[in-house]
Amino acid sequence: MLMVSLGTGIGGGIVIDGRLYEGTHRMAGEFGHMVVEVDGPPCPCGNRGCWERFASGSALGELARQDARNGLTPRVLELAGGDPVAVTGEHVTAAAIDGDPDALRLMARLGRFVAIGIANLVNIFDPQVVVVGGGLVKAGEVLMAPVRASLDGLAMGARVRPQVPVLPASLGERSAAVGAGLMAMAAAPGADGGVVS
Ligand SMILES: [Zn+2]
Repeated sequence: MLMVSLGTGIGGGIVIDGRLYEGTHRMAGEFGHMVVEVDGPPCPCGNRGCWERFASGSALGELARQDARNGLTPRVLELAGGDPVAVTGEHVTAAAIDGDPDALRLMARLGRFVAIGIANLVNIFDPQVVVVGGGLVKAGEVLMAPVRASLDGLAMGARVRPQVPVLPASLGERSAAVGAGLMAMAAAPGADGGVVS
């Protein structure tokens, strides 16, 4: 199982046989810093073109501010009080849930970026399921539907395996914090290991 947390950035977790895989230096699962565009926009990590520059809540805000400056998202701009600089991903999410076509178009663009990263992960891990958490999960199906639609044909082996189920985390945006808490408890003296499933 892979967990992908779409928030301000993108975090992740790799769960193998019910246990969180942490890596040699406990740094595994930094999915957000997969480079998806060589020479892409700079990332705070020092690289360029990291996935989280394209597929996080911050990236959605950036896409929406561009559209707002160009007069392409009147409803989203209205929710932000008329100031393009004040537009955030949350305004887009709220407008998309209300059925605003411009916000839905932004969600479809974001969904494609999310799907590209998930396809890379599916090619590497061949997981049973990909669980999506983080703040963007509040968007629900207006994000998940374009992610699933874009995923079609992106991952290898479509003829020999079904499309991996991509599901919203049942704990919603709190799932990463709950997972971190469980890990801390598991790491405490007397605990019996880092099981997070
Ligand atoms: Zn990065």
